[in-house]
Amino acid sequence: MVEMDRRSLLVGAAASTLLPLQSASALSPLAGTQAAGLYRYKVGAFECTSINDGAITIPIPDGFVRNVSKDEALVAAEAAYMPKGKVTVPFNPQLINTGSKLVLIDTGNGPSANPSVGHLLANLKVAGVDPKDVDIVLLSHLHPDHINGLRLADGSLAFPNAEIKAPNLDWAFWMSDENQAKAQDKPLMKTYFATIRKTFSGLENKVTRYDWDKEVAPGITSIEAAGHTPGHTAFAIASGDARILIQSDVTNIPEFFLRHPDWQVMFDNDPEQAIKTRKKFYDVAAAEKALIVGFHFPFPSIGHVEKTASGYQLIPVAWNPVL
Ligand SMILES: [Zn+2]
Repeated sequence: MVEMDRRSLLVGAAASTLLPLQSASALSPLAGTQAAGLYRYKVGAFECTSINDGAITIPIPDGFVRNVSKDEALVAAEAAYMPKGKVTVPFNPQLINTGSKLVLIDTGNGPSANPSVGHLLANLKVAGVDPKDVDIVLLSHLHPDHINGLRLADGSLAFPNAEIKAPNLDWAFWMSDENQAKAQDKPLMKTYFATIRKTFSGLENKVTRYDWDKEVAPGITSIEAAGHTPGHTAFAIASGDARILIQSDVTNIPEFFLRHPDWQVMFDNDPEQAIKTRKKFYDVAAAEKALIVGFHFPFPSIGHVEKTASGYQLIPVAWNPVL
């Protein structure tokens, strides 16, 4: 048996740097790209698929966490082994096949000049799903990274036969000219309003608005999760005895905001309300030992949440080759 100590590990690491030279004549070409981002899971009789739309890695923006210093944010990023000085934010829409309806929850970033996002349609294709077959597009809230996938690069609808459902309170907030006027001196909000208006232009009469505590699709119930936006919505998906919670953006990346539930991400509309929602949601999820899905969790974006001394931690699901 080989004894594993620090020295042998380091020698191993040094030796492995020689490998690319040795394998220069390998018959198998390097792929150079990531594999398809798909993970299937069952909720009772429903077959669900976590579909990765991509992930961005960006230098931590000033004010990314509103209520702590940038130095503290940098320490958290380092503790989570993010690339130095940067933060990685993934995007994961969910496809729910209830047997009678094909429901897509959130649509990702849509066509983008940035090759690290906008992979939803390519991944759906690998999953064997024709966008024309999607019956319902269910939006958790109207932020651009959740709605921009509604349209293709030429402006046509990516899911032409789907009913689009949006939370009533978000619709009222973002479609208010008065709110848009008030946002003109806040760059992030100004961009949000412009993007949201553009995406929904001409669709105003085609979007169905939903309220909380309603069955918004077969087996899918809308749950109040306000704060991130006024109408921000989580969902419970239930089939038979099985249940899973789609948290949407109750937190952004767990490495920051589950570990530190009092931290306020710059994207939260009402940060104090978002904190209350977060704690309530995770206290219930931890007590119930519920599986939760987070739009901005690391792919496949599913796990359990446990309470820690200072916040919560995510225990991700392990890959399961069997459904
Ligand atoms: Zn988001």
